[in-house]
Amino acid sequence: MRTALVIVDMLNDFVDGSLANPAAAAIVQPIAALAAKARSSREWIVAYANDAHRPDDVELRVFPPHAMAGSVGAQVVDELRPAPGDLVVPKRYYSAFTETELATLLAAHDVGRVVLVGQHTDCCVRHTAYDAFRLGLEIAVCPDATTVFGPGAHEPLAERQQRALAYLTAYYGARLGRSCEIG
Ligand code: ZN
Repeated sequence: MRTALVIVDMLNDFVDGSLANPAAAAIVQPIAALAAKARSSREWIVAYANDAHRPDDVELRVFPPHAMAGSVGAQVVDELRPAPGDLVVPKRYYSAFTETELATLLAAHDVGRVVLVGQHTDCCVRHTAYDAFRLGLEIAVCPDATTVFGPGAHEPLAERQQRALAYLTAYYGARLGRSCEIG
């Protein structure tokens, strides 16, 4: 059984575009380091789950337009650009598994565990974790390589991040481990 590093929504619009998140800058380097480690191991694969919205997508009823398919905003940030051999999965819903090929691709690569990184811990990462749980995959999450959305919230970011991580542990049995320590 192999491990898939699943990098969720590290796209221009989610870092400094229409849904810019100042907290995203701090998770770029941990994700880059983990991706480099994953690419050097035959036991790991790297998969990108990238929003690629169409104008009539339901999400755009609650969020402003973001990561529209084919736009610059929908591209992975330069520092985390996919490498040859990585899987790149476009998505139109919060979960990386909803109406995508991700489950089929992970099965084809004999993946039994996902390590989830990216944004946002309490939304797309959370919904992706639910589907991974439903599929019987082991789940790990790197607290230093995930973040919630910062702007506009009354509660401190760190507290919302802690609550989001606690949810993943409580409901999906996710193991938490710093990106540099996850084996
Ligand atoms: Zn979206």
